[in-house]
Parts: sequence; C-alpha cells; structure tokens
Amino acid sequence: MFEDTYIHKGLRKRMVSALQQKGITDSKVLEVMNKVPRHCFLDSSFANIAYEDRAISILCNQTISQPSTVAFQTQLLKLEPRMRVLEIGTGSGYQTAVLNAYDLKLFTVERQKDLYDKAQKTFATLNIHPQCFYGDGYKGLEGYAPFDRILVTCGAPQIPEALLTQLKVGGIMVIPVGDKVQKMLRLTRVTETDFHKEVFGDYTFVPMLENKAR
Ligand code: SAH
Repeated sequence: MFEDTYIHKGLRKRMVSALQQKGITDSKVLEVMNKVPRHCFLDSSFANIAYEDRAISILCNQTISQPSTVAFQTQLLKLEPRMRVLEIGTGSGYQTAVLNAYDLKLFTVERQKDLYDKAQKTFATLNIHPQCFYGDGYKGLEGYAPFDRILVTCGAPQIPEALLTQLKVGGIMVIPVGDKVQKMLRLTRVTETDFHKEVFGDYTFVPMLENKAR
C-alpha cells in the first residue's frame, strides 16, 4: 500500500493534467499534488481508483475529498512557507500531507478517534510530522492560535465563531458553508473586526459535526 510504483506516479501525472484542465493554475499546487501519494491514504482495495477525480470512502462513514477540491482549497489559501496553518477535519490525512509539503507550522484536528489514529500511522509511515489533535474543530485550537491560515475540510452549517477569532489580522480562512450543499468561502480578516468575504462554487462535503465522536 505504501509502495509508490511507476504506475502510481504515471496515474498521478495524469491526475495533475486533469487538474490543470479543470482550472487549477497555481504551479506549486500542481507540483505538490504530483508528489503526494494519494493511494497511501486509502484502503488498498481502492488503490486502482486513487487518482481518479472522485471522493472515496474512508473509515467512520467519511470520505477523502476529491483531488480537484483539495487542489482548489489549497490554491485559495495562498500559502507561504513557515505560516501557521490550522486544518479542521484530518480525515485520511491526504489534504494534511498536501499542506505539509509547503513547509508550514501545521496543526490538524479530527473528531473521529479511529481516523485520528489511522492518519497518525499513515503520517509516520510517510515520515511526515504535522501536529495532530483529537478534538472538536468548532473550538479551533486556542492554545496554538493565532493562525495565518485556517482550512476547513467538512461542510459547516455556519462559520464557527472560534475560528474567526483564531485567525490573524491579514489571515485567510477557506471554509465550505451550507447544509446539504456548501458554498466555498474565502474570508480574509482585514482588521480586528472586519472580514472580506469571497464566494466560490458549490461543493458537497461531509458535515462538520459538534463535539468529539468516540
Ligand atoms: N481532509 C480530509 C477530508 C475528510 S472528510 C481528507 O483529505 O481525507 C472531513 C473530515 O472532517 C471527517 O474526517 C470528519 O470526521 C471531520 N470532521 C467533521 N466535523 C469535525 C469537527 N467538528 N472537528 C474536527 N473534525 C471534524
């Protein structure tokens, strides 16, 4: 499962071309997604479809986001090296690994214990070391705030207040907001009290739920 063969590399190249055709223009995003072995974040029975542009089931009834969504959210973040970045919804850890390739101070929170445990094992095997937390992303990570960037990878019914508070002035949060279908929002904290909001297309994420699951 953790072997990265020339077949995987070839499929990944094809995935990256497809991302370009779908409008991903940021060369760093494309470079990083060409590197991270998405098949390593999935059950081995899904290895043959790992590089198709689709969401795939992981543990706890959750899904790994589809590559074009991961690429688009990453592009919206406008990342720069050494930024403090908080991700809500570790899930399989694939998006975390994409962020990790940017040389960030990276923190990620997951409310499902089984996913949190599994992602940590995957990270260890791939020798990457984001700081992982088992907790409720609605609360953010107060002790580690403020953040330059916050990325939410589950569909939030509304924007969590704590996350707004934990964003630096000048910082950016990318978050899908809505019930069944979400609008992708990019919020830039312009001053202590003002946020500039940009609205992108419609997406369907698994829901952002309150409190830790078991
Ligand atoms: N970035 C992940 C996406 C997984 S799906 C990946 O690439 O695989 C979204 C994840 O958000 C799920 O694992 C779900 O359990 C988690 N989630 C939902 N609500 C949450 C919350 N309040 N705090 C932390 N994680 C949450």
